[in-house]
Amino acid sequence: MVHEYNDPGYRPMSVLNLAGFLARSEVNGPGTRAVVWVQGCPRRCEGCFNSAFQPFSPATLTPVETLAGTIRSLDNIDGVTFSGGEPFAQARPLAELGAQLRKDGLSVVTYTGYTLKELAAGGDPAWPALLAATDLLIAGPYVAARAYPDPLKGSSNQQVIALDTRLANTRCTGRKGPAGSRTEFTIAPDGTITTTGFPAPVLIRKLASRCRGS
Ligand code: SF4
Repeated sequence: MVHEYNDPGYRPMSVLNLAGFLARSEVNGPGTRAVVWVQGCPRRCEGCFNSAFQPFSPATLTPVETLAGTIRSLDNIDGVTFSGGEPFAQARPLAELGAQLRKDGLSVVTYTGYTLKELAAGGDPAWPALLAATDLLIAGPYVAARAYPDPLKGSSNQQVIALDTRLANTRCTGRKGPAGSRTEFTIAPDGTITTTGFPAPVLIRKLASRCRGS
């Protein structure tokens, strides 16, 4: 489904509606990665970590060229991760961004609430382009009843699919794996705290409570 905020008639194709951006993360795919969170998701998974990113409302509209320049200026990153929200709801500008960055040697990891079968069946003419610009796809909705401690995915139904050889050796580790789920806190100079990875809801509640001093 293409929402009006992701519709080519609403704004130029090469503009992204961003929910967030992080220059460096070690819990959003292999290695050190920039993370692009897009605004808007058609699903309503129970227990969604990023429910504030679900509404299809204007957030931070950013030209692809601007974001590509920002990411290219970052030292010592292995790639970029697209998350959300639903990246495939903004498939065309993300495909453009991913293709540019891959030419520069960066890898692309894309999270999606769609299964690969749903994406392959079509729904948006830009979906194949985003799949072609993706090295590693983490596909499928979050299912709270199947929550799973893993460095790459939040629930056991999700599939980790190498679409290119660049990240073909990336493996998700299982419940007995060495890494388990990981959570990362980034504190910006202005005091803004970004929490990413797969934090347990109880951890978020405790942190919010501490920050409020209650
Ligand atoms: S697909 Fe992801 S962003 Fe969308 S509702 Fe589900 S968990 Fe949240």
